[in-house]
Amino acid sequence: MPRRGSEIGQSIRDIYRDLFSAYGPRGWWPLTRRRGARPEYRGGPRNRRQRFEVAAGAVLTQNTTWSNAARAVTALSCEGLLDPAAMAAAPRERIAALIRPSGYYNQKARRLQALAAWFEEGAVPDRGGLLRLHGIGPETADSILLYGFNMPFFVVDAYTRRVFSRLGLLGGEEPYERIRALFESSLEADPAVFNEYHALIVEHAKRRCARRPICEGCPLRERCINSNYY
Ligand code: SF4
Repeated sequence: MPRRGSEIGQSIRDIYRDLFSAYGPRGWWPLTRRRGARPEYRGGPRNRRQRFEVAAGAVLTQNTTWSNAARAVTALSCEGLLDPAAMAAAPRERIAALIRPSGYYNQKARRLQALAAWFEEGAVPDRGGLLRLHGIGPETADSILLYGFNMPFFVVDAYTRRVFSRLGLLGGEEPYERIRALFESSLEADPAVFNEYHALIVEHAKRRCARRPICEGCPLRERCINSNYY
């Protein structure tokens, strides 16, 4: 029997509690703490430069793993380019060469410079404005708003679709905005909770609910309608 919205909402809240108990706080977003350092998970941004670093990281991790994106973040940091003014003024070919490990480097260099210009114009954190920037889709915009500006926008990614469709709470093909609305209406509008929940979903999808899931010992096994298929 299809589940009612209120039951799904309760499940979403219960799953957050279970994931947090299993994995603990994740400390997103990873940031470089000194020039040339690799990004580390020690809490979110505290200043404009770090907000720009979050935004740059959100672009660099498009269509690739975070470890590839992190190599590109570190390369930009070494050259002092995790700064909006420096990024906006740098030759695009130089940026593209530095971020090569993240893939799609020519496209991403253009996107980084569009973001840098947005920061230089004042970076008013408005979702519609971000979505009008070159190459910024809903997942990237919500990552920037949540992790860069501490605003309550829930980030939906492929891990969210995979985990919650295996749990039987999503079909997996729903439009982005419908899934975002489902999570946002099920949780209190607290950026700290949205921040932690998305990070926990990523952790769970990497450690357990991977392409080949490890269901034995999974903290969500009791809730999962698909655990016996794997
Ligand atoms: S029981 Fe298996 S399929 Fe279900 S959430 Fe856990 S790892 Fe994923």
